[in-house]
Amino acid sequence: MKPTTETDRESFAETALRLGGKSEDEAKRLGAVDRADEQVEALFAAKYQTSSSPIHRAIWDGKAPLELFASAPLPAAAPCDAAMDRCLAVVRRRRREGQLFDPHGKVSPETIQELADAGYWGMLIDPRYGGQGAPFARFAPFLTRMGTIDITVAAMASVHGCIGAVDPLRTFGSAEQKERLLPDLARGTRISGFALTEPAAGSDLTALRTTAIAQGDDLEITGEKLFITNAIPGRRIGLVVLLEGKPAVVIADLPEENEQFQIVRYGLHALRHLHNNGLRFNRFRVPRANLLKPKSGDGLTIAYHGLNLGRLSLCASASASMRVFLANLLPWTSFRKTYGQPIKVRELVKRRLARLAALIVGADALVAWGSWLIDQGYRGELECIIAKIFGSEAQKEAAIELFMKTHGGRSFLAGHLFGDNVHEYLAPCIYEGEGEMLGMAFFKSLVKEHGRAFFEPIGKRLQALQMKTFNPANPLHLWKLRKELGTYTRWSVGRMLLARDRQEVPGMDRRLADHVSFALAMCQKHAEDLSRAMRKHQLKLADRQCRIAELSQRVQDTIVMLVTAQYAHQQKKEVVTAAADILCQDLRRNLTGQRTPDSYFRDITALADMILSSGFDDLAGIEAEEILMQYEAK
Ligand SMILES: Cc1cc2nc3c(=O)[nH]c(=O)nc-3n(C[C@H](O)[C@H](O)[C@H](O)COP(=O)(O)OP(=O)(O)OC[C@H]3O[C@@H](n4cnc5c(N)ncnc54)[C@H](O)[C@@H]3O)c2cc1C
Repeated sequence: MKPTTETDRESFAETALRLGGKSEDEAKRLGAVDRADEQVEALFAAKYQTSSSPIHRAIWDGKAPLELFASAPLPAAAPCDAAMDRCLAVVRRRRREGQLFDPHGKVSPETIQELADAGYWGMLIDPRYGGQGAPFARFAPFLTRMGTIDITVAAMASVHGCIGAVDPLRTFGSAEQKERLLPDLARGTRISGFALTEPAAGSDLTALRTTAIAQGDDLEITGEKLFITNAIPGRRIGLVVLLEGKPAVVIADLPEENEQFQIVRYGLHALRHLHNNGLRFNRFRVPRANLLKPKSGDGLTIAYHGLNLGRLSLCASASASMRVFLANLLPWTSFRKTYGQPIKVRELVKRRLARLAALIVGADALVAWGSWLIDQGYRGELECIIAKIFGSEAQKEAAIELFMKTHGGRSFLAGHLFGDNVHEYLAPCIYEGEGEMLGMAFFKSLVKEHGRAFFEPIGKRLQALQMKTFNPANPLHLWKLRKELGTYTRWSVGRMLLARDRQEVPGMDRRLADHVSFALAMCQKHAEDLSRAMRKHQLKLADRQCRIAELSQRVQDTIVMLVTAQYAHQQKKEVVTAAADILCQDLRRNLTGQRTPDSYFRDITALADMILSSGFDDLAGIEAEEILMQYEAK
């Protein structure tokens, strides 16, 4: 008999779903996702797994590893810097000359070639294969700088290097595959993408249908992909297929259209300067030698790995967009007068400027921290999810609540940054995982160990006793489960006796120190709240999606506070400290439900005045758009 491995066995999630009344099909599908997650986890040494991640430890260990919430400063220089400077210069010049895009509005082949010559496409690839070997912590802020010049060129590098074929090959390719396939990607003769989504499989990746069948030295692929960025003939994509019933990734070079391969075209408002297409395969052949074989797991293992980097890049790009908003708001709020005064003197407008600065600092903090953890070797699952959700939601809020509203009717003029790009600012909420779905995934990963340690034994005992639910008021139930409940009771009592986490960061600004202290106390509280929800809803917890989403958001807000306060402390700039303080005050009110005090309004006014008089971090060099429909001042 074939031995049962940890990953082959039915996961408890699957059993729990069945016991909780889910259909056989749903239990199986969600069990498959759970197993895929365990396989990704198995790729990492124990100290870098999700269960050892800073967030997991902060919630469950009783005392947060505070030092792991602050990234180490970047070295002053690195070999990739020269290439980065060249790339920025190329895009700045081509933008100024109006040469970035081709007549169809897509990033032009000439731009791609000039960037290739400057080393752009190999930024994350090892120099041995012709790349620049940039650490991720250097690449991510570079993307932010690139995004302030052109957001699409930044997005293209993120798709190519993070979710495209580059990361799967770097991480899961054999030596031969790397030698053969990475140099073209580094040179930019092949730009890459990743083809996962299908018409029937987006959020639900267990519904994949594209199939590969081995035929001699080839794999023959049949099926359809949807929404694939960077996918046109001549490009190299990571293609997710079902091989022998399991997800697998094969690296495919897209040929000109033929009988076996067609492009499905549609109009798409988001990422409008990039190609995004459906792909239809009919017995399309790819060499078997291009199949990636991860040490453990399958194609979803590979997909999840690249998505982590993509999520950090997305937050880095959001930071860029928000800087562009601020750089454009400053001249506009000085120019636009109502009732005889420029709108920049109004408190409501100052609040928007201050909130925008606060969101930028939060995004920068999460990017610096998450990238540092990834470079340290951490899996980074929880940290990258927070960055993606925060970045995409911040960008959405900034675009609509702060930028659009302050620009009034002009926002909707053709040629206005908002009107022309509104879909670009919203779509990140959906791609690389829709935010609320990711929030639920965050919750599940966070509670998994706790569930396994304390609730799985109870569930298994219930199953053995053929009891559907546990009633704590029933003495017979208590007696039958006394052993399992005893273990959990010991944990609960231990939490009650826990000393308050009073760690401090030496020399920290009083405002930030207060937020750190609050966040540390919240981490301790969250463990009890999460456990209580598990206790209360038992096997039905998976159906309490709104509660899961709420608890997840509370933990996320707490972590953003911890990270942002420590990041601001490292920056040692008053404007960054003040912006971090505003963000932390906002998050804190989310968590306590308290009303906004007057002191907050004084703080936002002070921060806005500081920005209006002295500017903001890294805004210099961002070219503001021309103000539309100008008029003579009276
Ligand atoms: C601009 C753009 C670029 C993209 N680029 C790529 C790419 O390069 N490669 C690629 O593979 N894909 C790409 N995508 C696809 C993207 O990743 C998917 O759109 C995304 O994962 C969501 O899938 P879906 O659109 O099928 O949503 P659906 O699966 O249709 O879900 C719609 C919504 O229903 C809700 N929902 C679904 N299931 C549940 C549930 N179980 N519980 C509660 N609510 C639920 C969620 O709110 C979800 O967002 C891109 C998409 C866009 C818009």
